[in-house]
Amino acid sequence: MAKTLHYTGITLDRAATRRRDEAWVDAHLNHAATRFIPLWQGRSLICMTETGDTVPEPVFLTGAAAQALIVEAGTTVILGVEHEGLENEIAYVAADISTLDEQAAGEISARADAGEFMDLRRVGAVMAGDMGALLAYARGMIHWHQRHRFCGVCGKPTQSRDGGYMRVCSDEDTPHTHFPRTDPAVIMLVAHANPEGQGPACLLGRQKKWVEGMYSTLAGFVDPGETLEEAVAREVEEESAIRVTDVRYQASQPWPFPSSLMLGFRARATTTEIDIDPREIEDARWFTPEELKNFGEWANGPAVNGEMRLPRRDSIARRLIDDWLEDVAGG
Ligand SMILES: [Zn+2]
Repeated sequence: MAKTLHYTGITLDRAATRRRDEAWVDAHLNHAATRFIPLWQGRSLICMTETGDTVPEPVFLTGAAAQALIVEAGTTVILGVEHEGLENEIAYVAADISTLDEQAAGEISARADAGEFMDLRRVGAVMAGDMGALLAYARGMIHWHQRHRFCGVCGKPTQSRDGGYMRVCSDEDTPHTHFPRTDPAVIMLVAHANPEGQGPACLLGRQKKWVEGMYSTLAGFVDPGETLEEAVAREVEEESAIRVTDVRYQASQPWPFPSSLMLGFRARATTTEIDIDPREIEDARWFTPEELKNFGEWANGPAVNGEMRLPRRDSIARRLIDDWLEDVAGG
């Protein structure tokens, strides 16, 4: 899997050691060149640049606009710094302004190059990969802060430290520390050489809540106490009753919608009889490459004439399917 995946490729220096220095954090929060990334209720500030094709780009706020934003922000997170020569570094800071009402958020976006607060998933697939990754990282960090305002050990309020990379509770005897989390989830392309007498096919399923007609790879969260390979085998068997072997890692993709890390695998089925668990999925089938060629692209809204659809282009699910199609075609 040499091709890059969406939401990967951040080159920022996360400055793990220096962010423990409060003076360093304050200097960057107040520096005129620091680039602020506002997040409002899970939405990122994005503008559409007309350069031939319309390309969505993140809007960074600096200078006076950034200082006005800090006043409104509940939480700020120094995501990292970009080095410009030996002396200069520019910090990128996520700022949560979710408590603002729609009008106040609109005023911030109106001041910022006609940007608009929108769901990253709407435009992530057509945005430059590293920019999508940066916004996804910001979104994931802010989501973690929003969900950890109270200590999971003693229930007392927590406060952000280390430029947003730790939260500490107010317990006087034992201040409990909490660190950013991401939830490992496995996602797998299950293949069989000849499950229904028509040559190679892969197992795809669909959940009721997905857009109409979309089929995708099976996936699920890793349980405590199991390896990734065991998680793949368990999830496939739970959802479809298919048994697998030869579980092989392919690639990973941060998927902070809201807080997952998708770990992509390919597995070989040793059985062919599908029996779905309707609590997890509403359908699963074997699909041959010929059948997949007739699938349409992912899109919101109802499918026309019962058309089947592939998963979104920015997802690792799609990459797993495309890679399998390429391998099957190559013989
Ligand atoms: Zn505590």
